[in-house]
Amino acid sequence: MSVLVYIDTLSGHISKSVNEAVYYGSKLGAVTVLTNGSVDASALAELGKFGAAKVLVHRGLNTNDAVQLTRLVAEAVKASGATKIVFSLDLTGRAVAPRIAAHLKAGLVSGAISLPDASGVYKVNVFSGKAFGCVKVNSAITVINLTPNSISVETGSGTAAVEDFSADCGAASYTVKSVEKQEGDILLPEAELVVSAGRGLKGPENWGMVEDLAKSLGAATACSRPVADIGWRPHHEHVGQTGLAIRPNLYIAAGISGAIQHLAGVNGSKVIVVINTDPEAPFFKAADYGVVGDAFDVLPKLTAEIKKLKAQN
Ligand SMILES: Cc1cc2nc3c(=O)[nH]c(=O)nc-3n(C[C@H](O)[C@H](O)[C@H](O)COP(=O)(O)OP(=O)(O)OC[C@H]3O[C@@H](n4cnc5c(N)ncnc54)[C@H](O)[C@@H]3O)c2cc1C
Repeated sequence: MSVLVYIDTLSGHISKSVNEAVYYGSKLGAVTVLTNGSVDASALAELGKFGAAKVLVHRGLNTNDAVQLTRLVAEAVKASGATKIVFSLDLTGRAVAPRIAAHLKAGLVSGAISLPDASGVYKVNVFSGKAFGCVKVNSAITVINLTPNSISVETGSGTAAVEDFSADCGAASYTVKSVEKQEGDILLPEAELVVSAGRGLKGPENWGMVEDLAKSLGAATACSRPVADIGWRPHHEHVGQTGLAIRPNLYIAAGISGAIQHLAGVNGSKVIVVINTDPEAPFFKAADYGVVGDAFDVLPKLTAEIKKLKAQN
């Protein structure tokens, strides 16, 4: 079976969620990867390690305009004969996957968190991660949007053949006037470890202890919505129903009550640790480990212990 995996490489680097999408595709069939822009060919060839046989690159298309990308994917589907099309559930995947599914009259599996089982049923996240859905597609072509951090990836040793691919993608439907890039070494949507804090931290001047703990663990930082709304932290750190939905291996939440809208974005985390002064805080019900205590006391102690452990090893 021929599988096409569209990957967004406009940032110039290959992200962890890209590797996951390519690996996922390789478990469905023979993978052709499609991308656009000026990402390095040698970085694309490395996708062979995740199961890609071939990478097609449209060098002339330096945009994530969903209408143009839909045309690009449609042309690549024609050229490759793919019957499964995989995206990562990022901003581009959210915009392009439904469009290409409508264009090809294909069923869409949105938010997949598993490979299909023997009867072709995919598990998906529904109701902001509060439940699972089981989706079966009956059309000849299936479009899949894969939730980041939902599958384990194994690395092989192959090298993918990188080829130029051109297609008439039509005129752009909008113009990008400026781009603000998220700063920091660890991008929140891909982070395996996350340290997050809420209004219990009292003010932005107290975030040093959150950042210290994150640094000692090699974790990304996140926050609750009110914290971003009042400008204590940047909006790209806001997790929850109206922010990012993340699925790290470890989510440490300090001074966050655990409102349902917050949980909607983090309850896919493998292990949740809650630090809160209020033993009745709702977050404790979702926690794997809970510390009833003052974040101002607990966070520095945790950081010191982690540093001590790291120094010993
Ligand atoms: C439509 C809608 C969408 C929403 N979307 C989101 C969303 O996407 N994400 C989100 O986060 N929220 C969202 N909210 C808001 C959500 O309902 C909560 O109001 C919000 O999550 C609360 O943030 P918080 O826990 O930081 O603050 P608070 O509710 O004020 O909780 C602070 C917590 O800190 C504890 N605390 C206080 N001092 C300390 C201390 N020294 N040490 C340790 N703990 C301490 C308190 O006991 C308390 O539990 C949404 C709300 C609505 C209506």
